[in-house]
Amino acid sequence: MKINHLLIACLSGVILAACGGRDAGDSAAGAVDDTVDEITVSEAELAGNPFLEEWDTPYGVPPFDRIEDEHFMPAFKKSVLELRAEIAAITGNPEPPSFDNTILALEKTGALMTRVLFTFSPLTGTELNDALRDLQTRIWPIFSRESDAITLNEALFKRVLTVYESRDALGLDEQDARLLELTHREFVRAGAALDADAKAEVTEINAELSELTTKFAQNLLAETKAFELELTSEEDVAGLSQGFKASIWDEDEQAWIVGLNRSAFETFMTQSENRALRERLFDAYRLRASEGEYDNGPLAIRIAQLRAQRAELMGYESHAHYQLETRMAKTPENAEGFLLRVWGPGLARAKEERADMQAMIGDAFTFAAHDWWHYAEKVRKARYDLDENALKPYFELDAVREGAFEMANRLFGLSFEPVEVPTWNEVVTAYEVRDDDDSHLGIFLFDMHARDSKRGGAWMNAYRPASNIDGENIRPIVTNNMNLTTPPEGEPTLMRFSEVETLFHEFGHGLHGIMTRIDYPTFSGVDGPRDYTEFPAQILEHWTAEPEMLALYATHYVTGEVIPESLVERMLAAANFNQGFETTEYVAASLLDLRWHTLSSAEAAEITDARVFEKAILAEYGLIDEIEPRYRSPYFSHTFAGGYSAGYYAYLWSEILDSDGFNAFKEAEDIFDPATAARLKKWIYQAGGLREADELYRNFRGADPSIEPLLRGRGFDVSAAGEASSNE
Ligand SMILES: [Zn+2]
Repeated sequence: MKINHLLIACLSGVILAACGGRDAGDSAAGAVDDTVDEITVSEAELAGNPFLEEWDTPYGVPPFDRIEDEHFMPAFKKSVLELRAEIAAITGNPEPPSFDNTILALEKTGALMTRVLFTFSPLTGTELNDALRDLQTRIWPIFSRESDAITLNEALFKRVLTVYESRDALGLDEQDARLLELTHREFVRAGAALDADAKAEVTEINAELSELTTKFAQNLLAETKAFELELTSEEDVAGLSQGFKASIWDEDEQAWIVGLNRSAFETFMTQSENRALRERLFDAYRLRASEGEYDNGPLAIRIAQLRAQRAELMGYESHAHYQLETRMAKTPENAEGFLLRVWGPGLARAKEERADMQAMIGDAFTFAAHDWWHYAEKVRKARYDLDENALKPYFELDAVREGAFEMANRLFGLSFEPVEVPTWNEVVTAYEVRDDDDSHLGIFLFDMHARDSKRGGAWMNAYRPASNIDGENIRPIVTNNMNLTTPPEGEPTLMRFSEVETLFHEFGHGLHGIMTRIDYPTFSGVDGPRDYTEFPAQILEHWTAEPEMLALYATHYVTGEVIPESLVERMLAAANFNQGFETTEYVAASLLDLRWHTLSSAEAAEITDARVFEKAILAEYGLIDEIEPRYRSPYFSHTFAGGYSAGYYAYLWSEILDSDGFNAFKEAEDIFDPATAARLKKWIYQAGGLREADELYRNFRGADPSIEPLLRGRGFDVSAAGEASSNE
């Protein structure tokens, strides 16, 4: 069932915008639109379409030089028809259901769809144009409905269930057994096992949720767009940098305009010396969509209630219990317990930071929430005096990437050779990756610089998932994408240290994709529980600042001198600054998200005012007035309009794993310790989703993760955190 695999890839952010940020749980049992049945495609439309031909390119890389935008839709339609025929063949098979004729047959379905969408989806991230944008709005809804039609296909589920119930007698090997387990689970969690009445109710709930979450996002967008802080005098722009001023200058209005996007908000709050204006922008930001026509409060309440109701129909205590069942945290109690262990030390540090800033202000006025960014920056400058520009010559792109290759070689024995393959853009560079026994692992492509057709940020994707079925061993094609600024002709690309960390991070996702030794696409890739999938990426960031590693890659691009230790020390000290604030605002939002989703439907129905509910919860945890949650309920689109409901905690959870995981190398007193690296390779990078994430981690580490390395990494007092282990 590659189709589900792709859906997860879709949800994990690669094409989140295109997916409308839909929630896995919110659509799984959605209604199937009749109009989709009318899909037809003629032979003439398919003539000369490269998706229907054999790809004789090097390593089977998509023939980018021959693929045109107009090839996608006919090929996709053809793939839908093929998929339907394949499903019909499985359900219509007169033989009794077996692993081969049902589970394995299902895994083999959708080959053409995989080929089309694994090319289409990454391309929309790097080469977006109007034609592809239009295709996104047409392709993804059809794709979603086809996926739903499979998980709600009763005849198919019956066969899956029959095989599942006889699993102990089948003598399956580990990967086959896992495929059966995951396939069955996917169906059950989508509601396939419910009786007809309950199924109908779930379908109704999903339809209403889909409307509400869309409305939530639209309200937020309207409120965000409606606000403009207009600056017209020198007094208004006091403290703002020339660069920022240039970026917010509006020629028509003849004024500087600051909106509510996070980046402009933070820059203004940091730089502006006008306290009254800072307060105005701050209030506009935090009170968005919390009253009037676009009030999201009632929507949040109703969404929470419907999710709770659906979870109850499926037999769960709450939506959070449903969501966390397949994650590492397992239960909302575990997730909350973990958050609270970080909460105490984080809040204590935040209070110290507040005192530092009040000391700088003196008696002039009492420090308030809208002062935080501005005074934090003042303290940072006074304390660390660090100039980013002094660091950059030591982090040249090619040297940094070679450093990442060298790390992968020392840890896992991998080698990287440049190769010529077709690519979607001439700036892309390609490498063949080989394992320590010299066997071919896959193709790794790098697209590192910003351009207009590319979305922002940094990410990894796959142009082809790993698969090894019926003796056909297909190795992955993975890519890393970043948005580094293109240097002037002939000059090197010099990076900020945070960008170096990002490069190693994405490289980690890439290795997780390319090193897999799993045969089935359903669990051969990087997808997995939300609170685990960042671990293989985040752990590699720890190597970037190690002296032994720096000596390998952080050399001055002109002189070749290794970065001086004193500079590294200041860089790392500055990185821990303001962690109290950052931890507290993040954990506050995570707790809020969890509490909304541990409500029963009856409890949710009793809430009349979202603000009152939110305030009571934050007061219960002791949040201070000077810090707002990173997201308040009316603009918490991760949780009310995106795929992160009861899952916002996951970013920090992954940090326990990477901090504790890297600590294994520290304990061995060797950042390339062969025995530790071998376990990391076997149980994390090669293992995909072979077992539940907590078991994979334990096999690597020999124990459950401890929270202490995370706290130390953030510069917190470990003794303030209570018990040592995070995940009993
Ligand atoms: Zn990541």
